[in-house]
Amino acid sequence: IASKLPATGTTIFTRMSALAAQFGALNLSQGFPDFPPDQRLLQRAADAVLHGNNQYAPMAGLPALQEAIAQVVSRHYGRILSAAQEVTVTSGASEAIFDAIAALVHPGDEVILFDPAYDLYEPAVLLAGGRCKRLTLHAPDFRPDWQAFAALLSPKTRLVLINSPHNPTGACWQPADLDALWQAIAPLDTLVLSDEVYEFIHFGEQALSVNSHPALRERSLVVSSFGKSFHLTGWKLGYAIAPPALTAELRKVHQYVTFCTTHPLQTAIAGHLEALPEETFALADFYRAKRDRLRQALAGSRFRLLPCQGTYFQLLDYSAISDEDDLAFCERLVKEVGVAAIPISVFYETPPAGQRLIRLCFAKEDATLLEAARRLCQL
Ligand code: PMP
Ligand code: GLN
Repeated sequence: IASKLPATGTTIFTRMSALAAQFGALNLSQGFPDFPPDQRLLQRAADAVLHGNNQYAPMAGLPALQEAIAQVVSRHYGRILSAAQEVTVTSGASEAIFDAIAALVHPGDEVILFDPAYDLYEPAVLLAGGRCKRLTLHAPDFRPDWQAFAALLSPKTRLVLINSPHNPTGACWQPADLDALWQAIAPLDTLVLSDEVYEFIHFGEQALSVNSHPALRERSLVVSSFGKSFHLTGWKLGYAIAPPALTAELRKVHQYVTFCTTHPLQTAIAGHLEALPEETFALADFYRAKRDRLRQALAGSRFRLLPCQGTYFQLLDYSAISDEDDLAFCERLVKEVGVAAIPISVFYETPPAGQRLIRLCFAKEDATLLEAARRLCQL
């Protein structure tokens, strides 16, 4: 077969979760909670399936859910949206990102990614005929060098793909980063795709979103996911927010990729958001406690813990333990220690030489975290 993605293999998440299952390891690799979502939300979903509408939803999303999302954005970021024209419900953030890239990137266009970059971005750009240019972020803070960024820009730069809080590093941008991005792209026609799926899992003072940057948001699509915000990654419900002209282009693709997103689950989330506007998205304290529990439990280990400002991922430097490359080290961890982690090199085009980093997901029951740490402390 003349592959359109010859260099693309099976994602590291599928591979590591399969290995964890095969060896009965604690799975701290793929990012998903091992605890249940809010029971009231599950009850709403059950009611919506049994008694609600199980036929196609409107293409752009259930109006009640579009409206509820617009309210969330207004409450958190002060951005007033037209729910009908600027909010699109998609099958996960993944679909929104894929749709946006397919709709906006022309053959030969350049797209800037920040390495390490979430693994879905590059294949989507390649399928659209685009070319990725990558700016490497460096440990320990993984913030961009904006001078180096400016040097990557050209009139061909169609899109910049940003992600804060950042998977896999847990780094968060500062308001000055959004200003620097805006200053750099303002003179060009460049657009921004902001992957904000961890927007409510940040451990600093305030959440940072393109939604609160008046200039930048007019050139941007902002993507988020209820999978992260409500602990239900398997529902695959996300959304894209963008000015009407960008939303219209996104929907041209969305309508033919999935047409619409699952109707009863949209009903459930819309009802949940309407019923519980205050306590929804109170995720930061919850995950800060989990982060700290894991970090404390690993404090006596030979791993060096990198800073974690957001997401539910903690990076560990294992250079005091082994010289193996990170994939080999993770495979050995699964088989010999009974803990599955994610090697970081897979998120780079060219991983920094000698970097020895793995990622642990702390969206897990405390007992899981403590047992994983106990095993890792034996190394
Ligand atoms: N972007 C990032 C950075 C992610 O970590 C994820 C999580 N899977 C996604 C996008 C995709 O989100 P979803 O599961 O809603 O498609
Ligand atoms: N975003 C999740 C992670 O980073 C994985 C999602 C997936 O498996 N596609 O672990």
